[in-house]
Order: sequence, then C-alpha cells, then structure tokens
Amino acid sequence: MAGVSLVCVPLVAKSVEQMLSEMATAKVRGADVVEIRLDHLASFEPRRDLDLLLRNRPLPALVTYRPKWEGGEYEGDDGRRFEALFLAMEFGADYVDIELKVAQEFLDYLSGKRQDRTKLIVSSHNYQSTPSTEDLSSLVARIQAVGADIVKIATTAVDIVDVARMFEVMVHCQVPMIGLVMGERGLISRILCPKFGGYLTFATLSVGKESAPGQPTLSDLLDIYNIKQIRADTKVYGIVGKPVGHSKGPILHGAAFRSVGYDAVYLPLLVDDFASFLHTYSSPDFAGFSVTMPHKEAALACSDEVDPIAKYIGAVNTLIKRPSDGKLIGYNTDYTGAISAIETTLQGSSGKVSAGSPLADKVFVVLGAGGAGKALAYGAKEKGARVVIANRTYERAKELANLVGGQPISLADLENFHPEEGMILANTTSIGMHPNIHDTPLSKQALKSYALVFDAIYNPVVTRLLREAEELGVTIVTGMEMFIRQAMGQFELFTGLPAPEKLMRDTLLSMQ
Ligand code: NAP
Repeated sequence: MAGVSLVCVPLVAKSVEQMLSEMATAKVRGADVVEIRLDHLASFEPRRDLDLLLRNRPLPALVTYRPKWEGGEYEGDDGRRFEALFLAMEFGADYVDIELKVAQEFLDYLSGKRQDRTKLIVSSHNYQSTPSTEDLSSLVARIQAVGADIVKIATTAVDIVDVARMFEVMVHCQVPMIGLVMGERGLISRILCPKFGGYLTFATLSVGKESAPGQPTLSDLLDIYNIKQIRADTKVYGIVGKPVGHSKGPILHGAAFRSVGYDAVYLPLLVDDFASFLHTYSSPDFAGFSVTMPHKEAALACSDEVDPIAKYIGAVNTLIKRPSDGKLIGYNTDYTGAISAIETTLQGSSGKVSAGSPLADKVFVVLGAGGAGKALAYGAKEKGARVVIANRTYERAKELANLVGGQPISLADLENFHPEEGMILANTTSIGMHPNIHDTPLSKQALKSYALVFDAIYNPVVTRLLREAEELGVTIVTGMEMFIRQAMGQFELFTGLPAPEKLMRDTLLSMQ
C-alpha cells in the first residue's frame, strides 16, 4: 500500500469567494485535493454555496461539516448537517467526511441514496492522546464495519513515540486509511504518511490557516520534505532536539539529499526522551540523526561506539545506524567543522600548505567552557595547539584546562594576554548573539594580539567581535563557516558521499 499520498489543503475561509480563490491557489501550488470546511463559513446557504463551490472546484474536493463536539465550528443539529452533506454528494463531491459517532445515523439518513462517485470518509478525532495499538486497531475495525470507503483517525501526540503506533496500524490497514497524529510532536505522521501507506495528508496554504494542530504548510511538505518522492523504503534522518522548530537542518539536508538523488527525508524531531525515541524508531530505515540541545550527552550515552574525540568532549552531535549490524555510532562534527574552518583559513592566509596542521604549536585561546568550548579546546589540542581557556566561571575554565592539558586564565587577565605573535582566539560564549548584538566578549584593543579570531555564534554571522577584529586587519572565521562544515560532515556520515558544498552554501545563504 505504501507509495504516494494525496496532499489535501483544508479551506477554513469565512466566505465562499475566499474559498474559491484559495482552491485556485492550492491547485497552482501543487495540492491534490481541497477540503471544504463548511463549518467555517460565516453564512452558509447549502444549495447555492455547495453548487458554487463544487461546480467551480479546480481539484477533487472533500466536504466536511465538522460539529463542535468533534473539534469543528458547527453548533446546530445533525439534521441540517446530514442534509448539506447529502447535497454535497448530489453536487458531485469527491469525498464526504462523517464522524464515526454519527456515521450509522448518517447512512440510515441516506437510506440507499449513497452516491457511488462520492467516497465516504468516516473519521474519529482524539484531541488528548493516542490510544494503544490494540485500541487503534479496534477503532479501525469499527470504522470499517460501519461501511467507510476510507478510514480516518486523528489522535494527539503527547510524545513523538506515539506516532509509531499510528504508523503500525496504518501499514497493516486493509482499506485506505488517513492516520494522523496532531500537535508539534506528531509532525512526522503528516510527512511520512507515504512511507507507511497513508491515503492522504493535510497541508495549509500558509501559517495560520490550520484546521488542526500541527499541520505543515504545502510548500514545506512539497519543497522541503519532498513528500511526493517518499516511498516505503525511503530512509529517514532528522535533527533531534527540544526545541527544533528553528533548525535550518531540514532545508539544508533536504536540499542536499535531493541534489545527489539520495532517497531520504530529513525531519525536525521534537524529542523529550532520547533513549525511548531510539528504542521506538529502531528500524534500519531511521538511519541517522543530527543531535542538538539538550540531547548531545544522551546521544553519547546511547551510542554503541563513539569517535574518541566525541567521547572526550562528552557530546555527540551525529548518530548513524551502521547498516551492517544496526549499531549506533556517535560522532561530533562540531569540532571537526570549527577546526577545519580555522585551519583552512590559516592555510589560505599564509599561502603555505604545510604537511601538519597550521594549528600545531600555536597559542589557541578558547573563550567559554561550555559545549562548544569543549569541542574547540579538544579539537585544537588534538592538532597540537597550546590551549588556553578563559571563562566567566573560572572554576569551569580550570576544569576544562585540566582535561585538555591547557592553561586557565581569568577574563580580566585575558585583556593583556600577549605572550607571542600569531595567536588564535575562539569565542564559544553566546556574548554578542542576537538580540545582544552590541555586546562583545573582549575589547577591540585586546584583539590586536591575535592573527585569527573565530566566533562560534552564527546569528548574526558577523558579530561585533568579528567586525572589530576585521577593522584591525585580523583574519576572521564565522560561526556560519563552522555550521556549514559540521553539516557537510554529517551529510558525509549519513550518505557516504562527498557533500555538495556549493549547493549547501547557496542553500544556507538563501535562508539568511
Ligand atoms: P553552553 O554550553 O551553554 O556554554 C555557554 C558558555 O558561554 C559558558 O562558558 C558560559 O560561561 C559562557 N557565557 C554565557 N553567557 C555569558 C556571559 N553573559 N558572560 C560571560 N560568559 C558567558 O553553550 P554552547 O552550546 O557551548 O554554545 C555557545 C555558543 O556557541 C552559542 O552561541 C551557540 O549558538 C554557538 N554554537 C555554534 C555552533 C555552530 O555550528 N556555529 C555550534 C554549537 C554552538 P559560564 O561557564 O560562566 O556559564
């Protein structure tokens, strides 16, 4: 059953004219079906409006007249609803939706006048939770038994693992099924439905036009998640975090997968408990993950094997499932991304390509001792640099310096720290990050001592620290360069292919 799923745009406009105009837009933008939500119309004249809406529809139409008691807007009695839905059938609606609670009554009302050309969707909505697999299966059986052409079940995700139960039921369903899990934690149900045999998924024309919580936009579904290319064996990757809504990963990795024809989708995965997420989505098809806050330590703990530096850093930002044995292998591409960005720039500015690392024996000052600070400190140490750590909380600077065999220094002393020429400074604190763009972690005067200044912050791309360094003629490396390189590293681990660097850079630029 798994394959293409229809993409349906719900129309929740208040007027028939607006709905007609949105239908036309939905067609142009690539939708397959529109859902006419009669309950959203401010004034509804059944015969006149249904005739207008259905005669002028540019796409197949699903007609829904949802009552308040099932999450809709309609407050009147069922008689008027049944009449309108029957009229919709007479006017040739392609689908009509009726709630399971009154499906038998509706069929009795139709009493043999059911139109073959109109498919009957019998639906059930749960706005609180997602029942067990057994309960979902028996719900499917009840909906089938009432005479549905298409089963529709919409539940709510309290946790992303809830969606797996819907997938399980959907993949085994003998009749066409729409199985969606509402809410931000249920988003993957709306994107992966072709993989698990879902008949249809909903997508809005724009943010704010949702008819149920968690619906993505049509352009996200078609352009970012490439839903029309998702099949049963499409591999799933994603960024695991909390929150993840702001991540650039889906656009960046989605575009990169597509550009090399790699059959995979990359999703935002809002995860509360990393171990239970991995346990639930354990099939080889869930092939790899980028990991962000607050799960980088949990990702390390869940790895079967870990890259040695990632282990030292204590954080894994990339996890892949080894195809040969399914073992989870943890990496940290943050440190490789940052260090390679600095090395490449140093090599470029010196014009010399040395056999060893250009960081070897250099004084490398790391500002900050958090996650990024650790990554930079271990990375620089591995390249043979002499590492110095400065941090607001001096104790943490001392701890990290001890771990990497470096030297701690107070922020005050850093102002006049100038043991030699050619030093490198790496800011890994969030000082200067949006919205505090006028802040900087070190005075402009002090920057004169450095040959290169790096800032892990990528919002803004050029921080005050970098701007002032540049004004002094000091070479700079941005956090965006680190970000692109860590993403390229992930792409290579995910696919085993060289990263499409130009495309990834252009994609990131287009997002700014
Ligand atoms: P983190 O673990 O929370 O560490 C934050 C560090 O900043 C700590 O050392 C903290 O000092 C220091 N700090 C925070 N506010 C400060 C202030 N007002 N004054 C002085 N020091 C302050 O954070 P993280 O994950 O390492 O991230 C740090 C930065 O790196 C963020 O801006 C993040 O966006 C960026 N980053 C960029 C990339 C990339 O790809 N470009 C990747 C990862 C992170 P204390 O120890 O005293 O609290």
